Amino acid sequence: MAQSIHLKKDGVKSNYSGAKEYDLVIIGSGLSGLSSGLMWQKNTDGKRTLIVEKNSYPGGFSTAYEREGYVFETTQLFPDIIDILEYLEIDLNLKQFEGNFMRRLVVEGDQVDEYKIPAGAENFKAYLVSEFPDDADKIRSLMDYSVDMFKQVRRLKANATLKDKLKIPFQAPKVVANLNRTYSGLLDKFGITNPKLREVMETFTSFSGVPSDRASSIMATGAMLSSMTRCFRPYGYFDEFPAKMAELFQERGGEICFNAEVEKILVENGEARGIKIKGEEGAIVAGTIITTVDPNLAMRTLVGDEHLPAAYVEKLENTIMSVSSINVALGLDDKIDMKTLDLDYPYNVVSTGLGTAEKLFEGYLAGDHAFSEDCFHMAVICPSLTTGAKNTITLRCTPFALSQWKEWRESDYKKYQAEKEKWADFFIGIAEKYFIPNLSKHIVVKDISTPATYARYSGSPSGSLYDMASLVTQFGPKRLPMITPVKNLYQPKFSHGLYGTMMNGVQVVDLLVDRKFNDGNSLFAPLKR
Ligand SMILES: Cc1cc2nc3c(=O)[nH]c(=O)nc-3n(C[C@H](O)[C@H](O)[C@H](O)COP(=O)(O)OP(=O)(O)OC[C@H]3O[C@@H](n4cnc5c(N)ncnc54)[C@H](O)[C@@H]3O)c2cc1C
Repeated sequence: MAQSIHLKKDGVKSNYSGAKEYDLVIIGSGLSGLSSGLMWQKNTDGKRTLIVEKNSYPGGFSTAYEREGYVFETTQLFPDIIDILEYLEIDLNLKQFEGNFMRRLVVEGDQVDEYKIPAGAENFKAYLVSEFPDDADKIRSLMDYSVDMFKQVRRLKANATLKDKLKIPFQAPKVVANLNRTYSGLLDKFGITNPKLREVMETFTSFSGVPSDRASSIMATGAMLSSMTRCFRPYGYFDEFPAKMAELFQERGGEICFNAEVEKILVENGEARGIKIKGEEGAIVAGTIITTVDPNLAMRTLVGDEHLPAAYVEKLENTIMSVSSINVALGLDDKIDMKTLDLDYPYNVVSTGLGTAEKLFEGYLAGDHAFSEDCFHMAVICPSLTTGAKNTITLRCTPFALSQWKEWRESDYKKYQAEKEKWADFFIGIAEKYFIPNLSKHIVVKDISTPATYARYSGSPSGSLYDMASLVTQFGPKRLPMITPVKNLYQPKFSHGLYGTMMNGVQVVDLLVDRKFNDGNSLFAPLKR
């Protein structure tokens, strides 16, 4: 029998004192909840704080888990959030990906184009110029513009006041110019029409799970630059990150209550007063509440429409949540030499050509998927090359909608299993064809997550991976605001990803302490003390 492996997340235990009153209650111990808790401790004098988490360990979507002696992970890379880790004194042994950021294969019929996208914006620019010399000037202009635009984002304020807003056109003209521009619109602006070059550039909108003709140009640029400038992963398993944050939070006086599902946010006269935990008697009173869970769950179920203005409910109803996924985690035997397979990049991505992301997203919006032999997009990640553990491969396949997955899981488990296996075979076939010959012969353990898995695990009604979709129509001021219509209830949703979740903590705590720590800045730029 395989030996059980100890993961850091399992070492973090509830330290809930049973108290019934807190200054701050945070719902969810994912990275948004933990960063909010740690930022709050650092910038207030030890006020009573409780994080409530329905799962038995911290981390939410950023985690690791064991199956039959193999350790699988959800997340695969750290964007550059080193300054925040230092600020919070989170000590992690991180591997920096020095060489290439991504190995990218684009399949057109029998032809396969391969690109090795280097880490670092300047390296990326030089690489694109060498691959596409006819477009050199356009590439340089686009990249310089992108870097400059991202710098201007740094000048913006979260929860901008009227005075802040009046300054924006002067401080951040490129941000203003791009507020309603899609990423394809940005490529058009620089005359980038070469389909192969576009396909490579549009890789970065897939980070946000949206096609480039709908993605916010600012968001896609930010995702590209924050991820590729410097990127990392832990030498250990990914659960180390939230485990360390949770331990620090507890050491600094915070309490975490695991296995505790919030079933109601209690609202009286338009003001959040506390929470009710499922199966527990009475309420926990809270001066302030931060919710980090899916906004549909938080506002429509935990708060309830009766406490919300009709316009807010309508906005929620019209909000498009990000996609869900099928994830195939494979434990492989030791006959396969992973080091020879050229897979040691944060991402290895294979897809069919230009237009694929749009078709797949349309399939998702229609409530299902549009994958076929001629239309696919898949990431292959190989964490064991860093951790040194038994060989693992993860195939990450988006977008899928929740569709019938939940129904099958709950009422027709045989069908659920059959569908899971069908899709796993499909994606293993693609991985075998383009990355790992004879992969199927080496599989020892197979663990398949479906949209129903993501929905159950995170509590998101749609199994959404990245919260609100990063569409141009719901980015920046058009996104649901952090200040909710319920007094004392905050919902920080700057954006998804490890970078975004850290900013959620920065922004919400800065708001709560009247901008005394980050001066209202939308990105991390703490005031010197
Ligand atoms: C498969 C996958 C791979 C990813 N890879 C990367 C990557 O490589 N790099 C990157 O930067 N980002 C990545 N992301 C995105 C990133 O992981 C997420 O954006 C981030 O972890 C979200 O953190 P969060 O705290 O906002 O939300 P979550 O992680 O969703 O945390 C919310 C928490 O709330 C809890 N909760 C829900 N309902 C309740 C309730 N009623 N009561 C109490 N608790 C509740 C949940 O159990 C959960 O722990 C990935 C996401 C996925 C799904």
